[in-house]
Amino acid sequence: GVGSFIHSYGSKKFIRPKSDDVLDAVAQARFNEKKWVWIEDDNEGYVRGHVVKEEEDTVEVEYENGGTAIVRVCTIKPMNPPKFDMVDDMAELTHLNEPSVIHNLTVRYKTNRVYTYSGLFLVAVNPYRKLPIYSEEYIQSYKGKRRGEMPPHIYAVADQAYHDMVQDKENQSILITGESGAGKTENTKIVIQYLTAVATTTNKPTTNILQTQILQANPILESFGNAQTIRNNNSSRFGKFIRIEFNNRAQICGANIEWYLLEKSRVHQQTSKERNYHIFYQLLEADEETKKQLLLTDQAQDYNFIKHSNKRIEGVDDAEEYRNLCKSLEIMGLVEKEKIDLFRIVASILHLGNISVTDYRDRADIRDFSVVERVCHLLGISAEDFKKSLLAPRIKAGRDWVTQAKSPTQVVASLDALAKTLYERNFAFLVERVNKAIDGQKSKDKLGFIGVLDIAGFEIFESNSFEQLCINYTNEKLQQFFNQNMFELEQEEYQKEKIAWNYIDFGNDLQPTIDLIEKTNPVGILSCLEEECVAPRGSDGRFLEKLNKFCDKDNPEAKYKSTRFGDGFILRHYAGDVEYSVDGWIEKNKDPLNEDITRLLARSSQKHVALLFEDYLTDDGPSVAPVKSDYTSSFASMLKLKKGSGSFRTVGQRHKQQLLALMNTLHMTHPHFVRCILPNNRKHAGEIQTKLVLDQLRCNGVLEGIRICRKGFPNRLSFDEFRKRYQVLCPYLLDREAFIDGRTACQMLVNQMQLDGDKYQIGTTKVFFKATVLADLEELRDGKL
Ligand code: ADP
Ligand code: MG
Repeated sequence: GVGSFIHSYGSKKFIRPKSDDVLDAVAQARFNEKKWVWIEDDNEGYVRGHVVKEEEDTVEVEYENGGTAIVRVCTIKPMNPPKFDMVDDMAELTHLNEPSVIHNLTVRYKTNRVYTYSGLFLVAVNPYRKLPIYSEEYIQSYKGKRRGEMPPHIYAVADQAYHDMVQDKENQSILITGESGAGKTENTKIVIQYLTAVATTTNKPTTNILQTQILQANPILESFGNAQTIRNNNSSRFGKFIRIEFNNRAQICGANIEWYLLEKSRVHQQTSKERNYHIFYQLLEADEETKKQLLLTDQAQDYNFIKHSNKRIEGVDDAEEYRNLCKSLEIMGLVEKEKIDLFRIVASILHLGNISVTDYRDRADIRDFSVVERVCHLLGISAEDFKKSLLAPRIKAGRDWVTQAKSPTQVVASLDALAKTLYERNFAFLVERVNKAIDGQKSKDKLGFIGVLDIAGFEIFESNSFEQLCINYTNEKLQQFFNQNMFELEQEEYQKEKIAWNYIDFGNDLQPTIDLIEKTNPVGILSCLEEECVAPRGSDGRFLEKLNKFCDKDNPEAKYKSTRFGDGFILRHYAGDVEYSVDGWIEKNKDPLNEDITRLLARSSQKHVALLFEDYLTDDGPSVAPVKSDYTSSFASMLKLKKGSGSFRTVGQRHKQQLLALMNTLHMTHPHFVRCILPNNRKHAGEIQTKLVLDQLRCNGVLEGIRICRKGFPNRLSFDEFRKRYQVLCPYLLDREAFIDGRTACQMLVNQMQLDGDKYQIGTTKVFFKATVLADLEELRDGKL
């Protein structure tokens, strides 16, 4: 198929049928009386008004709500005629500008139409209320329908993907991005719900178990990977790509989950308004027997890593969630021992946080050894050895091993680092274990997969750090992927219609910024950071200095600039200029561990623990090699942690590798794009904060998509549609009984309309228009009716 973008134009009525034509006509007449425009406004974003007087650079406007002003021409944008209100696809808007887009989204949202198309995108605004649009009946009504037959919906996207996969025998992907709280994860679940519902025809118990397991993967991942934040009570703190695999009968035969960038710092610190990962609180609600085994009390107050956090989430019962988690783990096929092993790590982290480090003449010491004993009991290592490794680790100096006493600050840092690593590796293990249960690779007659990407969108905060660079780098790549895709489809259509068109390479617009981040030669930001991480006296300051050397300060077009504030740089992303502060980047990228401790863990008497750290198993020291389990190899390769593969050991390199792998996968798919929008900052239903939404449309590429659209011929009609609608403008066409072919009729019409040659193109079956032309035609047509 040519892709949904094109379908939306050609095959659909471009004016929506309205129930009340008279009202429509009145509205239109009222609209035609004045030159209505959107006027930029500091508070509202844009407000309505009309032009009273036009000068060269300024216009006098009268606001709809009263008052007049003289404003610059560039601050007003033309308004679409009322018949365009509530269009399902914003690409149909003849005036494709920011205020029109936001206006359309707003009027739709107010009437609970939370899904809207914008060309290739499906825009989904978080309703913050239960809408009756996710029922079994709804699923059935979207099954096998073309886009345009039904109102916009995430089901339509899922169905399109399913349809295209079967029809074209091609892998599909659905890329869902948006801010935290915008609804990515909910929509991901809805896609999977849809696919599991439509892709089963049998009631064979085996397939049903698999489907239940695939559906249960989510609550498990959410226990360990989600947390309550100020923006979202169930915020995913990692990105994921879920692949649903299908067999030749187009039924689900398995699934696979990949994860990206887990927020580790949350494990040891959160603000008082947020929580640690759900599992920490759920575990304290476990049965007495389990808690005894894990040496846990039932009070969050007893644990430093959670005692200052928020403790309860409104409307959520952690005890019930704990029971649900256990049920899900059981459905996934985990036995009691495996479950306890997962919990063991979480409990040990809680105890780790309670180790209090004291300062004795600048040497670190530990006050309460029993806490250490508790940690080490759970982790299956010697408490004495652990204490020694913690306070004075052995490090290699040339060929010899020497011990090096640590300061209290250093010891606390290595405890935090250990907690984070334990958590992350446990998480990685959990995902692998889930994958093993739902593995689709077993199936021999595979048709293909539909992958759903649920990943954080662009982040521009007051202060941006390394984490933001990683996520923004990801989004820059995803946006480039989108642009290339959209361009290819457009290009394909133009070629098919044989219209004159000069090649514009939209896909490469973003390349300079991407190069700046990921290139190795000449050195880019990540490589430069890498070099500084291995340098003997590497520091954040020297990293910035190096960056400054390869940047071009005097070039206004430069994608990189050093900033005014000294400790950072500005990067020019498509979503806007972002200031990054380099404070702490060396540490964040190196993510250093006390290797003396990790070597201890690699030899733990607890197999699960030893497995998590097997990449630290070295030749020196007593070698009690742990028994290798089935998923040892896949686990290590997933974390890309094999000893010796030094280049993958840093956070930046690992992310880059994972991202490249993801992009490779995506390039093998037919993509579908979903953009989730946070309507307001208050988790309120029915309220749109214009500026907040505009910012997101800018960051998520919807406006970028429109920008590209405008360079081409965004509006198009088939010869037939065009002739039917506008032949009133050319009575000659009406009168004639003789045959006139579509192309000639179109040519006659555009001649009659006296359109500029660069405003339109006549193809082989369709006529194409630049943005805004259709509005003029509509006006002409209205004049004749
Ligand atoms: P994100 O993953 O983008 O951070 P979520 O998908 O977790 O956001 O959504 C945040 C919250 O918003 C959900 O917990 C839910 O309460 C609400 N929400 C999101 N999408 C929907 C929807 N389609 N219907 C009802 N509520 C929703
Ligand atoms: Mg989420």
